[in-house]
Amino acid sequence: MKFEKFRQILDSHYGNLHWWPADTEEEVVIGAILTQNTSWKNVEKAMENLKQAHILTLNDIVNADRERIRNAIRPSGFYNQKTERLINISGKIVEKGGLRALREMTDRELSYFLGSLKGVGKETEESIMIYALGRKRFVVDKYTLRIFNRTGLIEDDTDFPKSLKNEIERKLSLEELNNLHGQIVNLGKDFCRTQPICKKCPMAGECDYEKEITLP
Ligand code: SF4
Repeated sequence: MKFEKFRQILDSHYGNLHWWPADTEEEVVIGAILTQNTSWKNVEKAMENLKQAHILTLNDIVNADRERIRNAIRPSGFYNQKTERLINISGKIVEKGGLRALREMTDRELSYFLGSLKGVGKETEESIMIYALGRKRFVVDKYTLRIFNRTGLIEDDTDFPKSLKNEIERKLSLEELNNLHGQIVNLGKDFCRTQPICKKCPMAGECDYEKEITLP
């Protein structure tokens, strides 16, 4: 399957999803940490609890009582570890001058700073870079690897080729990159699950995996 066709199908099925679903850039940072090793549905519950507890900004996280954070983010799983990560990462960003200061950094400086924070892996780093700081990044998560592999766009579902990632980031606009990741997450949630629902998937008829399993 060609990448252009893949995008065309996603666009006609999902349109513009206005991804990332958050009200502020600081909420993006919080959500990017909470989403580690869990589904988006669980993150939504945890974010809702944080809002109810009036913990909405990085400063709020730094100043809030640990126990309140822990209780609020419980639905996102690994909540003890995530509480420590949230406090540590928020503290480091606030110390640095907040997101405003991060916006002044070059891509290289940003990547170095975010990558140096305990608990920020590549996916979290790139989610923050694109969705909180407006840098052109194609976020590769488990859905991306699975879907690109099954549709035949990449050969290995554990390794996304750097050359393809660079090409996508070069070719697509920031808005297109924003949306593409959201569409991929939705395709992964709706159809391309561990047990895929190929019959109902908009990629059916084009996807390598689906063609293989429906061979006569
Ligand atoms: S057709 Fe099946 S394997 Fe292909 S993307 Fe859709 S759900 Fe995944």
